[in-house]
This record gives sequence, structure tokens and C-alpha cells, in this order.
Amino acid sequence: MKPSERMKIPRQEMPELDAGVRATNFAEVNRGFAPAAACTEAERCLQCKDAKCIAGCPVGINIPGFVEALANDDLNTAADILLADNMLPGVTGRVCPQETQCEELCVRAKKGWSVGIGHMERYVADWARMNRPDLFEPPPPTGKKVAIVGSGPAGLTCAGELSKRGHAVTVFEALHKPGGVLVYGIPEFRLPNEVVEAEVETLRTRGVEIICDVVIGQTYTIPELMDEEGFDAVFIANGAGLPIFQNIPGEQLKGVYSANEFLTRVNLMGAHDATASDTPVIRASEIVVCGGGNTAMDGVRTARRLGANPATLVYRRSREEMPARAEEVKHAEEEGVVFQMLTNPVEILGDESGWVRAVRCIRMELGEPDASGRRRPVPIEGSEFEIPCRVFIEAIGTRANPLLTQTTPGLEVNKWGNIVIDENNATSIAGVFAGGDIVRGGATVILAMGDGKNTAHSIHDHLMNGIAGAAAAVAAESAT
Ligand code: FAD
Ligand code: SF4
Ligand code: SF4
Repeated sequence: MKPSERMKIPRQEMPELDAGVRATNFAEVNRGFAPAAACTEAERCLQCKDAKCIAGCPVGINIPGFVEALANDDLNTAADILLADNMLPGVTGRVCPQETQCEELCVRAKKGWSVGIGHMERYVADWARMNRPDLFEPPPPTGKKVAIVGSGPAGLTCAGELSKRGHAVTVFEALHKPGGVLVYGIPEFRLPNEVVEAEVETLRTRGVEIICDVVIGQTYTIPELMDEEGFDAVFIANGAGLPIFQNIPGEQLKGVYSANEFLTRVNLMGAHDATASDTPVIRASEIVVCGGGNTAMDGVRTARRLGANPATLVYRRSREEMPARAEEVKHAEEEGVVFQMLTNPVEILGDESGWVRAVRCIRMELGEPDASGRRRPVPIEGSEFEIPCRVFIEAIGTRANPLLTQTTPGLEVNKWGNIVIDENNATSIAGVFAGGDIVRGGATVILAMGDGKNTAHSIHDHLMNGIAGAAAAVAAESAT
């Protein structure tokens, strides 16, 4: 097909569950392309020789390659190309912020709509999961052992990449189920657990050992893993899951949750289904969630599905500044979530039994830009008002949990508690590497996966050719 003909094809819409129906259940909202739509979308790709889209993908997928195979209806080849670079394509095809990654750099974005790379990735990944066995040929073992702390996207990707090179990999996970935020944070209606489970299972069949219910820093320390358990290298990918609170009066009241606790109860512990789980979660007809990112959006949409009406989102800046993905904001709005923009909670009010009864808020206006480049929200004096609610959920961010870093002597961290690494993702301790949110602070799935992949290269070099990165510099310096 000529490029001019390809340019005429409109971007294919992702089919969605009806908003009225989905606001009452946890079924996946995006339903996935039908085969014809997937092929048509693939035909929109111009097959650029210098494909800019690849530079926007932190794991470097050969995007025109898999898209061309899809356009030719050769799904086996499309899957081979996709799986060669991406350990979790069913996940990224659903939750990757494509619009600011690969699709932002697609040449077609300049003249209308970019190619729907993420939607096609999901299509090929789902097809591969259903239709063909994993064709992985195990490489000869190197005899080297690597421990990975945390089974989120960074840890899983690093594990898969290292097992491809013949290293014996053990992932230690503090929770009872692997996946990190993918299973405890992101709700079923955006990322079904079965998709994560299947991709984790593929890693297991490739020889990755995953041991749950082990807290590194408590069950074993990092020095114990290396000195007593015989690991030749460690990758720390324990995320940044410690919730930040606003520190406003009333946070001790019954009915106040961090978004992480609320979402974990529902997603990981199944609290929304009383017939299947003993885990309680407070359901209330009026719920307020505070924040403007993906976590806040997941919290408020989950609350809506648990019956809240209104489920209200308060955010101190305006809609344009919201960090959440545009699609999540649109879906939340369609599902009936009430948005209170330029609004900041200043106090949570309780009743005589110690339960939340309302949140007092103040209206904000945007002032001069702050250090982040976004206009600083400034309170409007005398504009306080109350929003009645029985549950208040804080989703204003998370930070590094200090447990692991405090039990690892010599591990350099910055003032926020994030681990400091060099250009090879090596930490200040020889043989110990780090990546994902524990280094970046809260970021994205695909950036964590990119870190996992890049670190696997560095660990492989370290294991096969000697000490890498910061540790090498220190060792070299002390040798002179
Ligand atoms: P995590 O996913 O946090 O995984 C770390 C793992 O380490 C966890 O399983 C944890 O239990 C384990 N662990 C922690 N400490 C220890 C220890 N001491 N010993 C053993 N194990 C330990 N990003 C997107 O790209 N798109 C989205 O739509 C999106 N939505 C999000 C929604 C929510 C609710 C949240 C919270 C985040 C969202 N993000 C999203 C961000 C994204 O999920 C994270 O950036 C990403 O998961 C970070 O990956 P990670 O591997 O570094 O850490
Ligand atoms: Fe784009 Fe994300 Fe897929 Fe990479 S993983 S091609 S950035 S959607
Ligand atoms: Fe296709 Fe866009 Fe990549 Fe070009 S930049 S190869 S059109 S996806």
C-alpha cells in the first residue's frame, strides 16, 4: 500500500465497555481490537526507515517490525519480534503511557493521530498468550546466581533478561503474590490480574525462581544474600511504596486511607467480593479522593465501583496540570466521578464516634510557575467549604521505604531515600545494582522495565567481565 493511501486510514478506536455498566463492576474497560481493526491500524504505519517511535520506547521494541508482521496477518512473527524485547507486553499494551512515549515520537502524530502502537501491542500479546506456547530455548547455564529484590516490572524484566543469558535468578518478593504495583495497585478494570499472572508464569517456565513472603532487610539482608547465600550480584527493585500523607488535622479518624492501602485491599486481597475474601474495605455512599495522578484516578474509580455516589476527586491544580493519563481522566468522567479542581483539603472532620463526616477544603488559584515548571497553586483566602464524606483517601504520592536501605551498610541514598546509581545502574556497593521507582521515585511501568533491561546488561557484564560502574571506579581508585 502506498504511503498516501496509508495516510488516509483513520486511527482505529479502542472498543470500551459502556460507562453506565462498567461503573458498577470491575470488568476490563478497554475490550481490545478485533482482528480486522488490528490489521487496519497496522496499515496506518508508514514503515519509516528511521523509525523515531523506537527511541520513545525504553525497552527498544522493533515497532515497525512487529507492526508490519501484524499488517501481513503473520501473528507468529509479530509475537516473536515483540517478545524479543518486552517481557511484559500484555501489561505495557494496557498501562504504558504511550502518548508520552513511543506514540509521541511517531511521525504521524505531527499530522493528526499517531499510530496506535500500544493498542496493537496489546492485541499481539493477547493473541500470543492464548494461541501459542512459549518457544524459549534455555541457554547453557553460566553458574552465576543473581538475587532480585522485588517482583514489580523492574525486577521481573531484569529477571527475564538475565535468565535469557543463562544466569540463575531468584526474585524475592515481600508480598504473597508477584507483580508489585501491577497486582496490588493498578485495578482489575485496567489491568486484569490474569494478564500479569500469565506473564509472570512465562518467566517461571523460563527458569526464574520467585519466592514470595520474603522481606529483604528482615528475612535476609543484602550482605547476607551475597556473603552467606552465595549470590554473585543483587538488583534492588523494591519500588517506592510508602504512602505520603498531607499531614492535615483529622488523618487519625476512622475512614481515612492511603490510596495504596485502599487499592491493595481491593486489588490484591479481593475485598470488593465478600463471597471470595475476608478482607474488609469500608464502603460509603460519599467518598473523597485527593490527588491528580494515576493512583488518585484508580482510587476514585474503584470507590465509584464500590457504590460511592458521589465519588469526588479533589485536586489542587487545574485539569491541564493533572499528571494522570488522559484516558483515565476521560474514563473517570464518563463513569460519573465528580471533579473538584483547584481545591485542596485542609482538615478532615469527624463525628462523635471518631468516623470521618466531611473534609474541609479551600479553593486555589494558579500563581507563578514553581520548580516543576507548573503554576503554583495558591489558596484563596476565605474560600473554605466542606464536602460531606465517610471515607477520605489520600493519593498525593509515595516514597522509598527505608527498611532495606537502612539495613544495607554503605548503600548511598539521596535526601529522599532513593538509591544513588551510576550510568551502569551500579550502586555504591560492588555487585549491587538498583532501578525502577526506588531510584527514580514514583514513575512509570515502562521506565521501570527499561531500568530492569539496562541493568541486566550491566549485571551480565559484571558477572562475565568483572566489576562494573561506581564500584569499579572505587576499586580502581583504591588500587592506585
Ligand atoms: P513496584 O511495582 O513498586 O514493585 C516493587 C516490589 O518490591 C513490590 O512488589 C514490593 O512488594 C516489593 N518489595 C518492597 N520492599 C521489599 C523488600 N524489602 N523485600 C522484598 N520485596 C520488596 N505506571 C504506568 O506506567 N501506567 C499506569 O497506568 C500506572 N498506574 C499506576 C497506578 C497506581 C495505583 C500506582 C501506585 C502506580 C501506577 N503507575 C503506573 C506507576 C508504576 O506502577 C510504577 O512506576 C512501577 O510499578 C514501578 O515499578 P518497580 O518495579 O520499580 O516497583
Ligand atoms: Fe510504546 Fe510502551 Fe509498547 Fe514501548 S512498551 S512500544 S513505549 S507502548
Ligand atoms: Fe510507524 Fe509511526 Fe514508527 Fe513511523 S514513527 S514506523 S509511522 S509507528
